[in-house]
Amino acid sequence: MTLPAFRVLQPRTVEDAVRMLDEHRSDAMVIAGGTDVIPNLQMRLFTPRVLVDVKPLRELAVIEFSARQGLHIGATATLTHILETPWMRDKFAVLASAIGTVAGPLQRNMGTIGGNLCLETRCRWYNQSHFWRQSLGGCLKKDGDICHVAPGGKFCWAAWSGDSAPAFLALDAELEIASLSGTRRVPLREFYKNDGMDRIALARNELLTAVHVPAHMAGRRGVYQKLRVRDSIDYPLAGVAVAMEVDSAGICKDARVALSAVNPAPMLVTQAGESLIGRKWSLELAERVAHAAIQTGKPLTTSGSTPVYRRDMVRVFTRRALEETWKNGHGSA
Ligand code: SF4
Repeated sequence: MTLPAFRVLQPRTVEDAVRMLDEHRSDAMVIAGGTDVIPNLQMRLFTPRVLVDVKPLRELAVIEFSARQGLHIGATATLTHILETPWMRDKFAVLASAIGTVAGPLQRNMGTIGGNLCLETRCRWYNQSHFWRQSLGGCLKKDGDICHVAPGGKFCWAAWSGDSAPAFLALDAELEIASLSGTRRVPLREFYKNDGMDRIALARNELLTAVHVPAHMAGRRGVYQKLRVRDSIDYPLAGVAVAMEVDSAGICKDARVALSAVNPAPMLVTQAGESLIGRKWSLELAERVAHAAIQTGKPLTTSGSTPVYRRDMVRVFTRRALEETWKNGHGSA
């Protein structure tokens, strides 16, 4: 599979980059690590005339933490850089756990956190070569007028398949987004639209510049559990992230549970907090939250496993993640 023809623009500053995006709008795409964009271009899922290469912008690769400002990770920080930041595992256990499962070491060396948060959604009828897709007449999301997952429907169920987003949701993160009109902050939970065809709230003339986690989230226990076909390198078929604060008496002070790969968006299990806060560990309680998780995750046949199995694994992973985090203190600072 060859690449389509495009021009590469290399901005010197963030202001340069957003000016280029504003000028070229729907003709432009942002590229940094390229681990998602390049295969998608090879499959002709996109044919931009211009790629804006933001990888050399050093100001976007900064990772820092302060007790006042919390965690700041620039959008072009690589996944390896985040994992190898000495205090990351202690302070943000669920994030380190999730990022450690992304693809394999080569992709983590190239892939950036901004790219991971803006991944294309995935579906077995979409992530194929142009030739393969043409033989079926395309689908609603690309070059066709039918959804092969839910024929007769007008909605795209392609799954959100990133690993870092559920961890950041569990940490109540915010995104920093730049445009010609300045910088805005948006809570991560409002960034994803749960629509396979229009997946994120990022305009074509905007650039994701950083992700922030509030300081009070530092030191939370946490873990991410992931179902995938090949353990060494694969997208999630289901993912569960748990971040929790537990006091010395074993009572849950705060808890957030988020899912990946079972909807067109990563999602918080909203009932988890109210069920867990003020309680001590019990298997029955964990099963109740696991049941709430499978009400939130609604996988369809968009990737290599059955919806029934993925749904059941959401239940199992939620229970296991809660037990590991709570009982065994996994990921505690
Ligand atoms: Fe296409 Fe349907 Fe898959 Fe969306 S869910 S990518 S519309 S086949």
